[in-house]
Amino acid sequence: MQLARFPRIRLGHGPTPLEPMDRLRARLGGGPRLLVKRDDCTGLATGGNKTRKLEFLMGAAKAAGADIVVTQGAVQSNHVRQTAAAAARCGLRCEALLERRVATEDAEYADNGNVLLDRLFDARLHLRPGGGDMNAAARAHADALRSAGARPYFIPGGGSNPTGALGYVDCALELAVQASREGVAIDWIVHATGSTGTQAGLIAGLHGISSDIKVLGVSVRQPRERQEAAVHALACETAELLGLHTPPPREAVRVIDTQVGGGYGVPTAAMVEAVETTARDEGLLLDPVYSGKGMAGLFACVREGFFAADETVVFLHTGGSAALFAYRHLLAEVA
Ligand SMILES: *Cc1c(COP(=O)(O)O)cnc(C)c1O
Repeated sequence: MQLARFPRIRLGHGPTPLEPMDRLRARLGGGPRLLVKRDDCTGLATGGNKTRKLEFLMGAAKAAGADIVVTQGAVQSNHVRQTAAAAARCGLRCEALLERRVATEDAEYADNGNVLLDRLFDARLHLRPGGGDMNAAARAHADALRSAGARPYFIPGGGSNPTGALGYVDCALELAVQASREGVAIDWIVHATGSTGTQAGLIAGLHGISSDIKVLGVSVRQPRERQEAAVHALACETAELLGLHTPPPREAVRVIDTQVGGGYGVPTAAMVEAVETTARDEGLLLDPVYSGKGMAGLFACVREGFFAADETVVFLHTGGSAALFAYRHLLAEVA
């Protein structure tokens, strides 16, 4: 397993820190040791988990001789914001389809947060109604650009294909080295899971080094069975791309769906509690769509005794705080 075989463009500030969350642990009444892996500090337009994926995706785009990257996401997509920044850095144009996946007429949702930054990076944005096959629509958009003489490179939503997932294979390796250097034995990694590339990459990477660290994904969009199946499928494809001799076992994929609430991007009381508590106890910014629900899942698991008291749990902070500014009104409605 050699990541150096894949084209890559350095965009991030790694390795990201691994820090204690002792005040949060005390707040939750003790229980497992809690650490946070600061992938909100990866750099690139306020950071987040898409930076690692984009290092390999932009590497592939450049290797393919592309002049435009085409991608898609929800209106307040962190992935689109980071792709727009990566494209700017690499001297490529970025075209993005934005899906109205969250039912709101709020002007801040439409124009602030990630959208404000997309425009600053000069991405061309195309709004679409909610509910369609957005990857198919983005591919069709790329095909139309190709017919017009451009050289587009298609990046799926969330950057979640085997190439993008290599970014989280890299994170698994980074975390394993960091933990052994710092003398920390990690039992669990907990994080928000959406388009699946983060969890799939972690699982493929941990499998590749025969690590016994377990990964728990907190679904932000769909029921457990469907999310686990999608994560496993991508983890297997990623393992194949890496040339691993065996696919990761199905049992290695663990997802909980207790934090989805009203669906993707719809605030929940548990998410608001997690965002506020983490800010007040640790000085950390989460986001309403992903890391807030991910942390709410961690809170719930600690409270119900899911982890043993002598275990060590790492919350993988996937970023997303730029969306907070677009959710001012939506957050106030639940709080
Ligand atoms: C995209 C994203 C996730 C989910 O990662 P996937 O690889 O899509 O599952 C989690 N947190 C934040 C902040 C994100 O932007």
